[in-house]
Amino acid sequence: KDYNSAALIVGITGIVGSSLAEMLLLPDTPGGPWKVYGVARRPRPTWLSDRRLNYIQCDISNSKETISKLSPLTDITHIFYVCWVGSEDCDLNGSMFRNVLRVVIPIAPNLQHVCLQTGIKYYLGVFDERYKQEPHDSPFTEDLPRLPIPNFYYDLEDILAEETKAKLGLTWSAHRPALVFGFSPCSMMNMVSTISVYATICKHENKPLVYPGSDFSWDCYYDVVDADLLAEQQIWASMEPKAKNQAFNCSNGDVFRWKHMWKILAEQFGLEMVGYRKGQKETSMAELMKGKEPVWDEIVKKHNLVPTKLNDIAAFWLADVVFYSDNRVSCMNKSKELGFLRFKDSTKSFLDSIEKMRAYRFIP
Ligand code: NAD
Repeated sequence: KDYNSAALIVGITGIVGSSLAEMLLLPDTPGGPWKVYGVARRPRPTWLSDRRLNYIQCDISNSKETISKLSPLTDITHIFYVCWVGSEDCDLNGSMFRNVLRVVIPIAPNLQHVCLQTGIKYYLGVFDERYKQEPHDSPFTEDLPRLPIPNFYYDLEDILAEETKAKLGLTWSAHRPALVFGFSPCSMMNMVSTISVYATICKHENKPLVYPGSDFSWDCYYDVVDADLLAEQQIWASMEPKAKNQAFNCSNGDVFRWKHMWKILAEQFGLEMVGYRKGQKETSMAELMKGKEPVWDEIVKKHNLVPTKLNDIAAFWLADVVFYSDNRVSCMNKSKELGFLRFKDSTKSFLDSIEKMRAYRFIP
């Protein structure tokens, strides 16, 4: 046996799944050397080609398929669940998670820890229920009570605690990240790829980079988390005895303003910038980008990029959520007090994500 730990990453092609895979395959990662299994819904994408990665295409909403594809993996020691179905449906998200746990927990005798990723919607309410309840005041701390509205994060965290009880010594951690900055072109929520694609389309059409958000989001303090840092926190919680059976926020540890990041975005793509203008009419990036699918296809061809569809690589609805949001900073004290002291400069995180997408040829 040439590995110490065996990870099952559920959601391997996603924004955090892809970072986790890279990190776990490094030679000096805690708990290593790691064997890595990765599950996703689609066939293996060409950019996820590391031969050491055991890629499993499986629809985990289908319990029969989950049993047949995952039950041979008896050597799993850690599960990293970084997956959602793309809607906030409590039953569907819950049954997917349950399907995985109910297969792996009984068949993997050395299973030690399950990491679940939820997010700050724990404190804000899910998008669908957003206006039915006042969110908590920010900064968010992990001990804040649940909001009295349905939220698939609450279901997932309950399922995590419930299902792991079945096995003596099996521990868990729940991770509640801020908005994630990362490079995956297969994520249903990648803000950096979304606004990079928006900038690329502006460039292609010889238009300035117009900020389509509110005055408040333009100017307020915002925090995000780098996908690599979040992966590090999950690996840390899997290994650290003091971090067991509890939830952790995760952010880069600094704040920024979108008005500064927008300038950097314009510079990166060689564009003239149009920031928030006083009294500007509400605009929506999703509206501005309606019908641009053929334009993106043209750009992909012109620059010889890895083929992607506009609606896969960009989630313009997400930009609308972010650019019409207000205060939402997370507190990182709990992680720090227990010894997770890593941080990342958010501007570097933004630039690194853009650079990586360019290196992989997802954007020009
Ligand atoms: P993602 O959209 O980047 O990736 C989702 C992954 O799940 C993909 O690999 C996809 O193939 C897989 N998947 C989806 N349905 C599947 C199915 N039926 N069978 C097998 N695999 C399936 O995911 P993400 O953004 O990392 O989201 C994970 C969690 O993190 C979600 O609850 C999300 O709300 C939360 N979150 C995300 C962000 C963000 O900025 N992306 C921020 C905070 C919280």
